[in-house]
Amino acid sequence: MRPELADLRPESADLPPEPVGGEQLADHTTLRVGGPARRMITVETEAELVEAVRELDAAEEPVLVLGGGSNVLVGDAGFDGTVLKITTQGITEDTAACSGAVITVAAGEPWDPLVRYAVERGWSGLEAMSGVPGLVGATPIQNVGAYGAEVSELISTVRTLDRSTGQLKTLFPIECGFGYRTSRFKSDPGRFVVVSVTFQLPLGSMSQPIRYPELARVLGVEVGQRAAAAEVREAVLGLRAAKGMVLVDDDHDTWSVGSFFTNPIVDPATAGALPADAPRFSQPDGMVKTSAAWLIEQAGFSKGYGHGAARISGKHTLAVTNRGGATAAELITLAREIRAGVRTKFGIELVPEPVLVGCEL
Ligand SMILES: Cc1cc2nc3c(=O)[nH]c(=O)nc-3n(C[C@H](O)[C@H](O)[C@H](O)COP(=O)(O)OP(=O)(O)OC[C@H]3O[C@@H](n4cnc5c(N)ncnc54)[C@H](O)[C@@H]3O)c2cc1C
Repeated sequence: MRPELADLRPESADLPPEPVGGEQLADHTTLRVGGPARRMITVETEAELVEAVRELDAAEEPVLVLGGGSNVLVGDAGFDGTVLKITTQGITEDTAACSGAVITVAAGEPWDPLVRYAVERGWSGLEAMSGVPGLVGATPIQNVGAYGAEVSELISTVRTLDRSTGQLKTLFPIECGFGYRTSRFKSDPGRFVVVSVTFQLPLGSMSQPIRYPELARVLGVEVGQRAAAAEVREAVLGLRAAKGMVLVDDDHDTWSVGSFFTNPIVDPATAGALPADAPRFSQPDGMVKTSAAWLIEQAGFSKGYGHGAARISGKHTLAVTNRGGATAAELITLAREIRAGVRTKFGIELVPEPVLVGCEL
């Protein structure tokens, strides 16, 4: 057994508890907030990961799996349990002309370098999701998406440790409950630990069809056309940087979780009651997606709005940011104010995108 797990065994319950106050989770999240974790373990191999989770579960220890910390808002009291940091590495590839590149990527691999690698290798499909922070293992959790693409379109399987049985289990997309910024992993939190993700990527140096008008404009193509994947990557990185959506250590506009709220999907009657110029995107099931950023702005919250160090980004209305020294409580107060303002003006309830740990909205 790994030494740091030894004292989690039930028979060691008479040992004095480890004092709270070890690692500050603020040092492990892109919002730079979050109190202490009782304990933090880093796992470097799949075997260590599986063993650690099984041991922790046997000891009935609360576990928080943490990747890059770019989609969590951790409360100021921290996490009274064990934080498991996954740093597993490795990409295996199986490339064939008819099936494309089938690549299996360890959960701890950083996402954006994978995108760059795919573009360089002539594997298409990931380019529009360039610049998204975090690790590969977290991408199925909220079905990461950007500029008209979503990881679920490229995932062929997700290998997990199912904590309800303690067994490894491979899930096919149909079992993953993927939707807009959601999945079974998000709706049944904590049950599955993602061990690796297998993607099936078409071969070729051209991108997948461009779906996002702003990106098409920058590339000088029509929506639905393709462009060189390398150019799409550069264009996306440029667009994202201008919105504070690429992490830069000394740029407080990027001390965020990206978009704090998802774009609301409402019924046609609610969409019809919005002002004429409100963005409306018809969904296949008859519902209508509108823009959270537009609603927030129209409700009176503009870029830079906030109190003290908790403010809306100066570059993007959807990002709640820490200007340095904000607490989780202050960020939550701002998010609540924004949500209440949108509710009062439009009767629409904004839904937070990040996972909230030890706090609520
Ligand atoms: C500047 C910025 C821009 C962003 N832009 C986008 C964007 O364009 N599109 C988008 O979709 N997201 C975006 N995000 C959000 C975020 O980057 C993604 O959701 C990312 O996938 C989170 O990865 P992570 O490793 O940081 O996850 P974490 O924040 O560490 O974890 C997020 C959740 O996933 C769980 N989790 C993490 N790893 C695993 C695992 N291996 N197994 C089981 N559960 C796990 C955690 O417990 C937690 O509940 C942005 C964030 C920032 C800060």
